[in-house]
Amino acid sequence: MKALISGASIAGPATAFWLSRAGHEVTVVEQAASLRPGGQAVDFKGATHRAVLERMGLWEAVHDLRAEPVDAHFVDADGRVLAVMPHEFSGGDVEIARGDLATLLFERTVDDVEYVFGDRIETLHERPDAVEVAFAGGRTGEFDLVVGADGVHSGVRRLAFGPEEEYVRFLGHYYAVAGAQPIGARHADAPSAVRPSAPWYNEPGRLVVVGGSKAPALVVFASPRLDYDRRDVAQQKRIVADAYANVGWRVPEVLERIEAADDFSFDGLNRVHMDRFTRGRVALVGDAGYANTLGGFGTGLAIVGAFVLAGELAEADGDHRTAFARYDERMLRYSKVARTGNAGPFLAPPSRMRIAMRNSTFRNRILFAGMMKLTDAFATDLDLPAYPRLGFAARGDARRS
Ligand SMILES: Cc1cc2nc3c(=O)[nH]c(=O)nc-3n(C[C@H](O)[C@H](O)[C@H](O)COP(=O)(O)OP(=O)(O)OC[C@H]3O[C@@H](n4cnc5c(N)ncnc54)[C@H](O)[C@@H]3O)c2cc1C
Repeated sequence: MKALISGASIAGPATAFWLSRAGHEVTVVEQAASLRPGGQAVDFKGATHRAVLERMGLWEAVHDLRAEPVDAHFVDADGRVLAVMPHEFSGGDVEIARGDLATLLFERTVDDVEYVFGDRIETLHERPDAVEVAFAGGRTGEFDLVVGADGVHSGVRRLAFGPEEEYVRFLGHYYAVAGAQPIGARHADAPSAVRPSAPWYNEPGRLVVVGGSKAPALVVFASPRLDYDRRDVAQQKRIVADAYANVGWRVPEVLERIEAADDFSFDGLNRVHMDRFTRGRVALVGDAGYANTLGGFGTGLAIVGAFVLAGELAEADGDHRTAFARYDERMLRYSKVARTGNAGPFLAPPSRMRIAMRNSTFRNRILFAGMMKLTDAFATDLDLPAYPRLGFAARGDARRS
């Protein structure tokens, strides 16, 4: 089959990986001019994520590029440590910079997949036997399947399912990340006697995180919905500066870093709510179908979703109706974590009392153990099929790269 995938971050190349290995002819179209750098470190947790990475032959490569685990130190305005959030809580079993993971997936697929940068799908017209596609750059094409792996503001979802407002819920907070490096030094092999830490500073409705010398600045702040241009980075940097104008601590330094940063990501905290991820010959994978910004597991969900979609297509012998129904069923259940919870009030609690309450959960061993258990359960709550027809598990060559 000929498959077109929109988006070349995590979900897109992961889907391309499996579809091309199953023998399909795959094109990935990405609206950015090249692979996008940046973003925080993303993490994988538990047996399900690991099983998929192993089947992709990526587990070791991800480990080689891993970010050093960094504990979060909640500090007051004088830098005194109030509580410690162990890296296991937010960093899963292994963390890797989002840009490094995107590059790795790209490198593992580029020989078998056609990548088109600087373009996007403009129209989709579905016929019984194919989807006719027109691209913004003027090209046209016909594909058997179209996959929207183009993130929370998915263009494919808008074209195939309807306007963003019907599916995306703004959660009352914005975040910005500047600097390509994850928090803390990375690729650090030498075990350190002192675990590295990143200070996290809160004022009501505001969070600021500063890493080491090359580390990123991360801010999360409560706000009503803002009207801004998603392509206007200067405007977004001004929004952040305004939101932090009266915040103390090392905020002037953070704002300087943000101002100087080449790679800067800004967005609302959003959740995507859908009751199915497929329609006709179109399927959504990753944040396009099941995002919960900063809520955890977005990247794990994306690689699991890519595997399940390709696996179901293989098992159904390319009958996309059967495969898509099974994909919907499995991923609706597995992605329920993306439709619950909101990281905003946890990261940037609305009052001093709520900040103190949040900090106290990390001083209480029983509460902390309960929270860890809950996140473990979400990460592994999928009976992952083997999908022998994808070939890897059956032929025992899962380590092929
Ligand atoms: C630059 C960047 C920085 C990020 N930083 C963070 C972060 O700090 N913290 C965090 O939790 N998550 C971050 N994310 C999101 C994170 O990568 C996802 O939550 C998760 O990994 C799932 O990935 P995804 O591939 O589904 O979506 P995304 O990673 O959002 O990727 C979507 C891709 O589709 C492309 N795209 C969008 N619209 C179109 C279109 N119409 N046509 C073609 N291509 C399109 C985008 O340019 C992007 O490359 C970031 C994403 C990007 C792209």
